[in-house]
Amino acid sequence: MTAFPVVGNVTYIDDWHDARPGGWHEGNDIMSVRHQPAVAFEAGRVDKMPGSGGCMLELQGVSGMVYWYIHLNNDLGPDNDNKGGCKNGVAYAKGLADGDKVRRGELVGFVGDSGDANGIQPHLHFEVHRPNGTPINPFEHLNDAKHLLFPRLRPGLGDVTLTLKGAKVLSKTSSTITVRTKRVVVAPLGLSFVNRRKVTFAVPVDANVERKGASGYSTTDVSSAQVGERTRVTTDTFAPTWTQQRALAESLAAAKILLLG
Ligand SMILES: [Zn+2]
Repeated sequence: MTAFPVVGNVTYIDDWHDARPGGWHEGNDIMSVRHQPAVAFEAGRVDKMPGSGGCMLELQGVSGMVYWYIHLNNDLGPDNDNKGGCKNGVAYAKGLADGDKVRRGELVGFVGDSGDANGIQPHLHFEVHRPNGTPINPFEHLNDAKHLLFPRLRPGLGDVTLTLKGAKVLSKTSSTITVRTKRVVVAPLGLSFVNRRKVTFAVPVDANVERKGASGYSTTDVSSAQVGERTRVTTDTFAPTWTQQRALAESLAAAKILLLG
């Protein structure tokens, strides 16, 4: 199994070999939003290669396949300011160095519009190359990849805590809550991005569930959650597994749930 290279809601079509200025399109364009996390498609070794494609990253996968991430972010602010350069924390993940080994689904960079995509909709131009260097159509590879709720961080950054902001209750039981997520915040890096999907959290008996009322917050339990109400779910601090990154049912546990009406 492989990790879809962009975390969050995207659109892409089979635009392999479409005519482009100067030749064929050698990859697929994954349309996204600025600063969205880009993750390793499979485990491998990374090299930063800034060039005419802007801020580019090459991932040499353990399978022998090679992946190119092109047009990574070069903006500091929310708009297209071109002030960030191809630097760690802007284009690439903090602490990422040439030759580093990364795990599948690990944060490697951020979506943007650098290079000859300057000023157009931020997207990841993603290429897949055979070990001999021949580019192949990424489309089926993308279709087979698993979409993640959040990226893993560099090993030195330790465990993560997730906060799901602006989520909406879809259903609940006495020991689970199913929500439509919106914004995902990942500590310790403070990554914050939109990723709308359905996630069922386990709610352990010792989870802290509070309801917001006119006079502040009061303790309640998950069965009082109302379908359609807004909620904020925070996890404990944990070392993410692949299953948890995919947010498969009840693989993530809620430590704190705020019911916001
Ligand atoms: Zn492209």
